[in-house]
Amino acid sequence: EDDNNRDYTPVRWVRVNTIKSTVDAVLTKDPFFKKLTKVDAFEKVIDTPGTIFHDPYIPNLYGLHPKDKVTSTDAYKQGKIIIQDRASCFPAHILHPSPGDHIIDACAAPGNKTTHAASYVKNQKHSIVAFERNSARSQILRKMVARAGASKCISVKNQDFTTASPKEFNDVVGFIVDPSCSGSGIFGRSKDDKLNKNQPEKKTSEKTTTNEEEDIVEENDDDDEEEEEEEEEPISGKDKERLAKLSSFQFTIVKHALSFPSAKKLVYSTCSIHAEENEQVVIDLLNDGQIKNAGWRLCTRDQVIPDWPRRGWSDEFVKARFGEQESKALAEGCIRSLPKVDGGIGFFAAAFERD
Ligand code: SAM
Repeated sequence: EDDNNRDYTPVRWVRVNTIKSTVDAVLTKDPFFKKLTKVDAFEKVIDTPGTIFHDPYIPNLYGLHPKDKVTSTDAYKQGKIIIQDRASCFPAHILHPSPGDHIIDACAAPGNKTTHAASYVKNQKHSIVAFERNSARSQILRKMVARAGASKCISVKNQDFTTASPKEFNDVVGFIVDPSCSGSGIFGRSKDDKLNKNQPEKKTSEKTTTNEEEDIVEENDDDDEEEEEEEEEPISGKDKERLAKLSSFQFTIVKHALSFPSAKKLVYSTCSIHAEENEQVVIDLLNDGQIKNAGWRLCTRDQVIPDWPRRGWSDEFVKARFGEQESKALAEGCIRSLPKVDGGIGFFAAAFERD
């Protein structure tokens, strides 16, 4: 707790965008990267500007000190590197689609996970459909996709994913479902910043303004170049009603994805620390009769970044709903990242699969 509340310098996580470049080209040729000193723990990056940490969990991911002006580099300006929190890289890595696979990102804007997934399918044409129901955010998504060099691979649809017809996408095998959540795992953005950035949901036809676009083009603005993950305000622990609503929405959207005829694997994630939006949603899905009958099960630890030590919760909350033994298995299959102590935002991910 104390650790979590101290004045904190976050790591700036940077993913080499293998659609546009290679690790070798970025690290050995870019003048900014060439000067950095390698360290063997992300905590050392936090202590010392001018250092770089190679993440052992996600390929092509590096940690930098936020004072090092990576946003001024050509590599950043040309979309060869993408600033993306480490935990936010988990879903595409867990899904691990192969070239030739067709996948859907159900809640895609601003598109960090979508473009990451595009790198796994080797940017093959028409591999990914990215849904985003908010029109302003779908514009941001299109820009991020273009910047990553993935416009041919990713088709953006400004549409509510729950209205997508499973029959129309009968070749889709994989899903990333990263729906709106309380955002309780996010830190370091002031309330005012969040309120300014997150415009209320608008109908597609309405004109809307947002300053997120500026975040993309103002590459020298050192504070805000990472795109906003969430659209909701953090929640107080007491706000059970709102949590229940979010949890029910999250359940509905994942259940819809699990109904697609060729779906074989789905990764569910949130940037919430609340069990109601995380383990609870997973439990509700696993207990749902239709989902069970369709053959879905939770992926086991060996399929979900096995070396990542912080797994899901199996505390009283979970046990009371799922039983002792099942709770342990469930926790092992899930991943959590704690805000700050794990070097980034609070995050949750779990995966479902069927034969
Ligand atoms: N996955 C994104 C990334 O990594 O860059 C972040 C996604 S953010 C947590 C959730 C997004 O889902 C928001 O942009 C929100 O507008 C969108 N959304 C919420 N409900 C949706 C729905 N029913 N259909 C499509 N998009 C939805």
